[in-house]
Amino acid sequence: MLKRMSSEEVVLTAEDLCVKFKSGQDYIQAVRHVNFEMFKGKTLGLVGESGSGKSVTTKSLLRLHDHKTTRIEGNVHFEGKNILSLPSKKMSEIRGSRISMIFQDPMTSLNPLLKVGDQVAEVIIRHQHIGKKEAKEKVIKLLESVGINSPRQRYHQNPYELSGGMQQRIMIAIALACEPTILLADEPTTALDVTIQAEIINLMKRMQKKSDMAILMITHDLGVVANICDYVAVMYAGQIVEYADVNTIFKDPKHPYTKGLISAMPTLGRSRKRLEVIEGQPPRLTGGEITSCAFAERCKSVMDVCRSVPPLSTGQGSGHSVCCHLYPEKEVALDGN
Ligand code: SF4
Repeated sequence: MLKRMSSEEVVLTAEDLCVKFKSGQDYIQAVRHVNFEMFKGKTLGLVGESGSGKSVTTKSLLRLHDHKTTRIEGNVHFEGKNILSLPSKKMSEIRGSRISMIFQDPMTSLNPLLKVGDQVAEVIIRHQHIGKKEAKEKVIKLLESVGINSPRQRYHQNPYELSGGMQQRIMIAIALACEPTILLADEPTTALDVTIQAEIINLMKRMQKKSDMAILMITHDLGVVANICDYVAVMYAGQIVEYADVNTIFKDPKHPYTKGLISAMPTLGRSRKRLEVIEGQPPRLTGGEITSCAFAERCKSVMDVCRSVPPLSTGQGSGHSVCCHLYPEKEVALDGN
């Protein structure tokens, strides 16, 4: 289990979370034994390349996968219950109200046939059981709070009449309509241009400060991580391979994969050095448990043991943990460092 950094209030705990997709006679192990905690008012970044299991992990917290083809194992504790074993009706009461989600592309997430105001109101009416008129006034206030100008006029517009940035603001309004405890954000700025990205990140930070909600931010953009995250979990091949507070991840990364991601980050300056790349491809996740380090085929520091024994997560002090044979468990001093 990843260690708690301080006395911060835990709002969600994922324990030994595994997600498997049926593929013919076999299963694809998209998420493997993932553990993490989310804290009130804090942002946890889930980082890794495409296919590392970030979105699958996040969607499993809301049980959004097709239950006929997906097996979710482990526990997700939220408000005193394991939400993975709640009846569907109870789960749908949590989804969109206590835990809500925004997705990468607002245009495909909004209903093109409905006025944007009605799409926000629908969530409020459903979860707060109030009338249309009262909901409309709440929506107008909410649109204003997420930076939509002329909210009364905008209420009656269709999604295609708004810019990408405005559409994402509508998605944020929908997600925040019921003042959730947790906001899951799946690459919410990837489809937007750079200036709008900054506006949306600032908006999320502002809304978080106002309501103290916890955010799970999925991204492959380390610039976004540095800007908004308090803690970072680096995912590779369905596993968390390193976890630490955001400063530690950038100043003292330990796992060779984390180091590779940071070296692949473009920096401003006159340097004509080529960007580093992580050579090779992630392993296929079919055929049972992986019996080596999943990063072994791409790792420049690979040792014999890496090819025959999967590494375990070890504590490196101050809540920093890493899953790599190069780092045995560190003796922790009484001050926790
Ligand atoms: Fe590299 Fe071995 Fe560490 Fe895996 S366990 S990241 S192969 S050094």
